[in-house]
Amino acid sequence: MGNSESVLKEKKVVVVGGGYGGAHAVDLLRGKCQLTVLDPREYYHYCVGSLRATVEPGLEKKILIPYKEAWQGVYRQGKVTAINPDEQLILLEDGDKVSYDVVIIATGCHGHFPGKIDLNVKTMAEAEKLFKEKQEQVKKADRITIIGAGAVGVEMSAEIATEYPTKKVTVISSGSDIIQGPFKKQFRDGARKQLQKLGVTLVLEERVSNFDDLPTDGSSSCTVKTDKGTEIDSDLIIISTGLHVNSEAYERNFVDVMDENKHLKVNKYMQVEGHSNVFAIGDCSNADKVKMAYKAGLHMEVVAKNIIALFTNGKMTPYKEQTVMMLTLGRYGGITQFGSLIFGPLITRYKSRDVFIGKTRSMVLKKTRGTNYFIWIALVIAAALIILTVIVTVLLKKF
Ligand SMILES: Cc1cc2nc3c(=O)[nH]c(=O)nc-3n(C[C@H](O)[C@H](O)[C@H](O)COP(=O)(O)OP(=O)(O)OC[C@H]3O[C@@H](n4cnc5c(N)ncnc54)[C@H](O)[C@@H]3O)c2cc1C
Repeated sequence: MGNSESVLKEKKVVVVGGGYGGAHAVDLLRGKCQLTVLDPREYYHYCVGSLRATVEPGLEKKILIPYKEAWQGVYRQGKVTAINPDEQLILLEDGDKVSYDVVIIATGCHGHFPGKIDLNVKTMAEAEKLFKEKQEQVKKADRITIIGAGAVGVEMSAEIATEYPTKKVTVISSGSDIIQGPFKKQFRDGARKQLQKLGVTLVLEERVSNFDDLPTDGSSSCTVKTDKGTEIDSDLIIISTGLHVNSEAYERNFVDVMDENKHLKVNKYMQVEGHSNVFAIGDCSNADKVKMAYKAGLHMEVVAKNIIALFTNGKMTPYKEQTVMMLTLGRYGGITQFGSLIFGPLITRYKSRDVFIGKTRSMVLKKTRGTNYFIWIALVIAAALIILTVIVTVLLKKF
């Protein structure tokens, strides 16, 4: 065993939050240190698969994984209510305390179902029931309106329109276009074209004016009204806006290093500013403009190296932000931006067919060592470029 690895073996590393970033922490650190992952729920929720699970009965069983089965000896159920950096102690809701040498904060964010599941839904049975109810509501409704045209709203609309081509699906947003963020016009144009083909209606630059009066359980039909006078009769409303950071775990002692949206401010090594043994990864950190699962994985890869560097006075590895998005548009469509390159459904289908549920289950249940999306995307794109080059070379030789 190398010196660096034996140093880590004795260290207590605690991960607060067993979501996508937390799963990468287990994948990279289990067996290498005294690892504990704390999460209030008894199951891992792969929220990337939630939208497909809304239209595919049975899939809820695959996107929810019991921690006890996956992370025996590592997982401890508990909601963190405070982290005390002076005493290196974590306080749990039930009054218990957990000490640490290093803490990795990965509490993510919360939002509306079906994209996110409330933190108080603690058992698998409760979570599965929610999905089954939503699947029924979607099946029953003829007119479905989705509020929010970010990636989640757009993907949700395409899942429904693909599965149920005869339903009237509308996406409404106050924004001037779909999917905010540093993406190219060509990316958004391509996505809009595919939505159009699927029959999804987009209502942009209009703000919903009766938001609070709209039922979201499909119990009764309603009319969505906008500030511009548009009225959309709907049988089901799905809200895909308003993701907020889960900051309860660190608010008490880290308020001076939180940004205006409650993200923890990190340096380029993913350490929380002013705290060398406190790292923040994923959606709760301020590392990226666009929050994504694959980025949480990349953060954790950097953190795994930097924890070793911390205890061996080694060289720290910096995190570099990338512009990548693989947008699923139903099981057969989608569009990808990788740096400045844009790829259509042919490449994106690699994700769209099962939204990486198989790979994620393998990682969480540790059948294979986890590979971040990013590496898969890079491999697929490299393969596509090689095939393209070969075809062009052959054609050039022929003519
Ligand atoms: C519907 C949807 C689709 C998406 N699709 C994609 C996609 O296709 N590609 C992509 O890259 N990204 C996608 N994202 C974004 C991606 O899911 C997030 O960026 C990613 O999950 C972030 O990982 P995380 O570990 O930071 O947080 P999460 O995965 O949200 O995990 C946070 C964990 O922290 C726990 N927690 C919260 N508070 C506490 C506390 N006080 N104490 C202990 N534990 C706590 C929660 O229970 C949860 O398990 C999608 C998001 C949504 C909502």
